Amino acid sequence: MPYAYDPNNVFSRILRGEIPCRKVLETDHALAFHDIAPQAPVHVLVIPKGPYVNADHFAAEASDAEIADYTRAIGKVCAELGIRPGDGGQGYRLIANAGEAGVQEVPHLHVHILGGRVLGRMLPRA
Ligand code: AMP
Repeated sequence: MPYAYDPNNVFSRILRGEIPCRKVLETDHALAFHDIAPQAPVHVLVIPKGPYVNADHFAAEASDAEIADYTRAIGKVCAELGIRPGDGGQGYRLIANAGEAGVQEVPHLHVHILGGRVLGRMLPRA
């Protein structure tokens, strides 16, 4: 299945420097920045620099180097923010929305890192 990437999405514009962001971390293949409308005391987005719509697109077409760098960037951000449960942090939640059912607003892969408080159940009961 072909993946149609829209290069005018807001995260692509952040990557091109057309829109500012509050940067947390940058690596060869990833950028992390604070969400503009935080839903928890910690709310950081981690995006790959490559043009991937969502997690399954990234898994299918990104190089091993991109996948390794991106995955490690998520871990580095958690360490930097002091939320890793293994070293005294309170813990966190990762969310990657995709498509209509996932209610994805920005069509460029992003993992939300949420923390800083107890987040409650993963989903409200239907
Ligand atoms: P999603 O619904 O998973 O696509 O989430 C998109 C997220 O991007 C939302 O949490 C927005 O608040 C966030 N967002 C949109 N525009 C910006 C921006 N310019 N800088 C930082 N975060 C943004």
